[in-house]
Amino acid sequence: MKAVAVFPATREVRLVELPEPPPPGPREVLLRVLEVGICGTDREIASFEYGQSPAGSDRLLLGHEALARVEESGPDVTAVRPGDLVVPTVRRPCPHRRCPACRAGRQDFCVTGDFLERGIKEADGFLQELVLEDVENLVPVPRKLAEVAVLAEPMSVAAKASEQVAQIQRRLPWERDRVRALALGAGPVGLLGAISMVVSGCETFVYSIEPATSDRAELTRSLGATYVSGKDVPLEELGGRCGPFDVVYEAVGIPSVAFGALAALGPNGLFVVTGVPALGGTAELPANAIMRDVVLGNQIVLGTVNASRGAFSLALHELEQAMFLFPDSVRALITARTPIEEAPDVVRRQGGIKQVIRVASAEAT
Ligand code: BGC
Repeated sequence: MKAVAVFPATREVRLVELPEPPPPGPREVLLRVLEVGICGTDREIASFEYGQSPAGSDRLLLGHEALARVEESGPDVTAVRPGDLVVPTVRRPCPHRRCPACRAGRQDFCVTGDFLERGIKEADGFLQELVLEDVENLVPVPRKLAEVAVLAEPMSVAAKASEQVAQIQRRLPWERDRVRALALGAGPVGLLGAISMVVSGCETFVYSIEPATSDRAELTRSLGATYVSGKDVPLEELGGRCGPFDVVYEAVGIPSVAFGALAALGPNGLFVVTGVPALGGTAELPANAIMRDVVLGNQIVLGTVNASRGAFSLALHELEQAMFLFPDSVRALITARTPIEEAPDVVRRQGGIKQVIRVASAEAT
């Protein structure tokens, strides 16, 4: 069967031919991978800046945003049946007894850093035709979401953030007015964040560099959010002209832009950071103003990474709502579907919003 592997030592990304997996163990499920989404993390791994091969292996199989179909389930599996659609979670727990997060099944909050991530850190990913996975790591997908469920993983990051925002803002001892929310960046993470905010009932804005006449701006408006272009409103004026915001969801990964947008956060606001910049860079920031505002405004800056099964379920629920409200706009987030043979090229280049690899051949689907 075909798979896509990164070989860091020889700096290669290529298609490999592997034997098919053995039959599933008691709690395992054999999956036929249908689609895999490509994101910035895959591009970093494919340019050898990030990622780690499994122990003892010279290569890492890519792919952590997957949609799959159950091919065969182990004898003790009752939660899914052959033919069901599922999305797998990404992170697997660390082995340490002292990690309360992993021991509680919340490896997205792992405290030791010794977790594994499929397709990213010391565990092979889903860019392969057939793969075994423990049933605990699978989230069932309603059949009507089949065409967009490959977006569940990046959406789960937004869903995890919105769960936490809701929990934290219970600190405010009054009913809140309609929450004003900003997604910073109109890439896939920003737009999925905006969808999550729209379906949660927020008055939602997206701020990005593309002009107000661009396709991204048009798509943003079709999702029920207001688009603000950096070409019309400089970052320093964002708060004064469009803010203040109760929630900012950062999805640009550029520290100067991210922290520049902090000035648009209102009193008691929550700033969610999702971007992972490369190490080593420095940025000049108005640190005094930032610290003053955070303290005098009771503000919170919250980093968020990875997601639990619960956040995946919430993500699928939010996608379902979005498919009811603006189905064509959700579909439009997937700008290309490419066969697995072309995956090595796709992970090396950027373009469109979400690029998806079609893993299963037509006769297998
Ligand atoms: C994935 C997360 C993962 C993170 C860090 C992201 O692209 O969506 O699941 O935790 O990369 O490796």
